Amino acid sequence: MKSELPVLPTSPLPPLYAAWLEQLLAGPIPHERDATCDNCAMCADGREPNTNEIFFSPQTKCCTYVPALPNYLVGRILADEEPAAAAGRATVVARMRAGAGVTPLGLAAPPNFSVLYGHNPAALFGRSLTLRCPHYLEEAGGRCGVWAHRAGVCATWFCKFERGATGMNFWRSLEQLLTGIERNLAHWCLLELGFKGETLRRLLPMPVQTSRNNISAHALDGVADPQEQRALWGEWTGREAEFYRACAQCVGALTWADVLALGGPELQLFAQLTREAYDEISSEQLPAALKVGVFNVLRLGPDSNTISTYSGYDPIELPNKLLEVLPYFDGRPVAQALAAIAAERDVKLDRALVRKLVDFKLLVPCEGTTGTHRAKTGQRPQR
Ligand code: SF4
Ligand code: SF4
Repeated sequence: MKSELPVLPTSPLPPLYAAWLEQLLAGPIPHERDATCDNCAMCADGREPNTNEIFFSPQTKCCTYVPALPNYLVGRILADEEPAAAAGRATVVARMRAGAGVTPLGLAAPPNFSVLYGHNPAALFGRSLTLRCPHYLEEAGGRCGVWAHRAGVCATWFCKFERGATGMNFWRSLEQLLTGIERNLAHWCLLELGFKGETLRRLLPMPVQTSRNNISAHALDGVADPQEQRALWGEWTGREAEFYRACAQCVGALTWADVLALGGPELQLFAQLTREAYDEISSEQLPAALKVGVFNVLRLGPDSNTISTYSGYDPIELPNKLLEVLPYFDGRPVAQALAAIAAERDVKLDRALVRKLVDFKLLVPCEGTTGTHRAKTGQRPQR
C-alpha cells in the first residue's frame, strides 16, 4: 500500500475520491457548470414564479438532506486544520457531541431526519429548514462546511447536467460506486482497528439506534443513550475522535487497487458500470434512428417554449421552429430525417444540436438502435 495520493485541485470530487477515480477512468471527471452553486441555479433570483417550474429556497438550496458520513471521512474532517475548514469541522464536532447516530461506522443520519425524509419531496426538498443539513453554513452564503470531504451522495448530486440524462446516468453510477466504497471501507476500518465480539455484533448489520424499527426515545430526541454508546464503542469509548482519525489514516494509505480488492465483486461491478457510463458521457455518437420522447410544456411563449424532459429540475427552452420539426424523427435513419427537414422546412439542424436533444431525451433511440439512457422521463432526482 502506498501513501496518500496527491490532491487534484481541478476535479469536482473530494481529493480522496478524485485520486481514486483518476485511476479508474480514462479522462477527467466532467464539471457540471450549469449547477452554479455559489449563485444557486435553482433559486428564483428575481425570476417570475411559475407554478410549473421548481425553485428552491436560498436558505436551503438542495441541502435539505443530512448525509451519513463514514468513519474515515469524519476522521479526515477532524484532521483538516485549514483555517477555511474550521467552521465545517465545528458542525461535525457538534454532531458528535449530540450523540445520536454516532457509531464506529461513522455519523448516521439522525432518526428524526430519517423519519421525515422522503415525505412529500415535491414540497419539502430544497425548501424545508427542518430538513436542512447541519453542515450547511448559512452565514457563509450557504456553502457546504465539509466540501473537501463530503460523502459520495453529496459529491455526485447536481440539479442540472450539461449532458442532460446522459450526465445524470454517469453521476448516478458514480454515486452507487462511492456509496458502495463508503460502506465497505467503514467496515474494513473496524477490522483494522480491532473491533470484535459483542461490540461488532451490535454494529452489524445496523447499529440499534439508527434502525428505523428500533428507534429509541433518546435517538429520536437527537441524543445518545450513554449505556448503548458504551456498548457500541467498547475500548474506544471517550476516544471517538481519535478513532475516526485513525480510520482516516488507514484509508488514506489505500491505493485504488486496494479499494477495489477490498470491495470484492460488488464494487468491481459498480466500477464497471461507472466506466461504461463514463464512456457514454465521453461519446458524441448519435443513435442510428430516433423518435420524439415524452415531455411536459412548462411555459408557452410567442417564439419559444420551456419544456421539461428527464428531470423537473433541468428544463430547457426550445424555439418553436425546432419543436415543429421534431416529428420528422419518426424512426427513419437520422441522416434521412435531417435531409427531409432541410428540404421541406428549410431548417438545418447540426448533429451537435441533435445530440443535445438526445441527451435531454427529447429525442430517444428507436428500439434496436444504440442508446443506453435509463432514467425515466419526468423522474425527479432526489438524494
Ligand atoms: S446543485 Fe444544489 S446548490 Fe448547486 S446549483 Fe443546484 S440546487 Fe443549487
Ligand atoms: S454535506 Fe454539504 S453538500 Fe451535503 S447536504 Fe450538507 S451542506 Fe449540502
